Amino acid sequence: MGRPSPLEVYALLDKSNCKDCGYDTCMAFATDLLERKITIQDCTHLMNEPKQAKKRNKLILITTPPQKPVILGIGDRQCIIGGEECFMRHQLSFYNETAIFIEMADDLEDLEETVKYLTDLKIERMGDVLQINGIALRCVSGNIDTFKAAAKKISEISNIPIMLCCFDANTLLSAAEVIKDKRPLLYAATKDSWEEIGKFAVQNNLPVAAYSHDLDELISLSATLQKLGVKEIVLDSGTFFGSGNLSITYDNIMQLRSAAINKEDPNAGWPVMGVPAAYWSQIKIENDKDLWKHQYQEIIMAALLESIDTSLIVISTGQKKTEIWGLLALMTLRQSLFSDPRIYPAVDPGLYKVGEPGKMAPIICTSNYRMTKIPVEQDLQGANIDSWLLVVDSEGIGIESAVAGGQFNASSIAEAANEFKAFEKVNHRIIIIPGMAARLSGALEDEADCYIVVGPRDSSGIPKYMETQWKPEEFMKEYNSWKEE
Ligand code: SF4
Repeated sequence: MGRPSPLEVYALLDKSNCKDCGYDTCMAFATDLLERKITIQDCTHLMNEPKQAKKRNKLILITTPPQKPVILGIGDRQCIIGGEECFMRHQLSFYNETAIFIEMADDLEDLEETVKYLTDLKIERMGDVLQINGIALRCVSGNIDTFKAAAKKISEISNIPIMLCCFDANTLLSAAEVIKDKRPLLYAATKDSWEEIGKFAVQNNLPVAAYSHDLDELISLSATLQKLGVKEIVLDSGTFFGSGNLSITYDNIMQLRSAAINKEDPNAGWPVMGVPAAYWSQIKIENDKDLWKHQYQEIIMAALLESIDTSLIVISTGQKKTEIWGLLALMTLRQSLFSDPRIYPAVDPGLYKVGEPGKMAPIICTSNYRMTKIPVEQDLQGANIDSWLLVVDSEGIGIESAVAGGQFNASSIAEAANEFKAFEKVNHRIIIIPGMAARLSGALEDEADCYIVVGPRDSSGIPKYMETQWKPEEFMKEYNSWKEE
């Protein structure tokens, strides 16, 4: 079927331009619907008028991605996995990043403390807040009551999505019964347990993970669960370590994704998952001395799965505070992989206040490339430099390239200083420009009627520069003497 065009979507809308959805035109609505900024439910006409049912259903059909989305959990931390419409990121964009679930044993001694730590874990990087997405509770005890109690405890102390993991259907469903209103993911329906688990999922509208290391069997399981009425499925073809098994894991996931996205096979058209945590049950570990080497293997597999757009991964390393390195690696990689390749990572131009700048505080100029503005701001905050950060519109391009390409030039800096009233905040007319833009200083002094100081090439050098070279009174004396000439 392929991706519909905005015109095809527009043809199915009311075309009245009534503005009830907040858009001026139905065409603008159609464009943003395709970008998934809004949903069909936002068009009141389409949703509320019975005579629109045919068009509504057609619109739902043509805008549903070939790999359907699955919703896990409820509330603020609910996460959506899958729902992708391109095989490679550069073909369009990936919309839903890989969900990271941390595996936890149901008989873990410090379960409560660990759940709280993982729920609250937040890492701010480049303006984004990075978090894990869920907890995969594994029945290690083999005891129904222990498993149920652990599931209940997690659901009481955390709003994070839960995946219940047990191959014994009775144990799995006993725990699911206790927390079904939290929309847990049931892991896993197999050729032996699909009926029991499937029926429970249908009755309670829950998502189900289907597992088989045989792809034909997995696709057949998916078809059977759908026939039974299961509305949300996640496919797990297994994660295997050891010689040659990495390629099998990789191939299986790529085949499933290709069947879903390129061939539009409805039985493969679901999110795919991998379990790097399976490492610990597949590899014999002699002693704890080289534990980190084993943890590396698990994290490397997780990174590989992220890089091929696996919708959900379950890892064990990262559960303890000392294992934060593993999560940092995976979350930063994920942040890069799932940024939209069509959009320059830009921030809004403007005059940003850092600390409590006084009347002789410096005005430091930079570009609106996100990876430039945020580190500069963090370096200033880290060194307690009260200042004004003048962020110039360089079309989201970094300083060096923007100076070469002309987006970061004397006129754009002068315009920004004027537009954001930079000199009204201070008692001087001095701008510090980045070392990489040194060549703009002469023209900028004329354009902005100010004194230009060339700062360091890298913002990590700003603290030292401020200590040794920031002499605003002397700079202003020089500026005033020029003015008198
Ligand atoms: S609510 Fe529907 S009909 Fe009205 S402008 Fe929006 S898209 Fe068009």
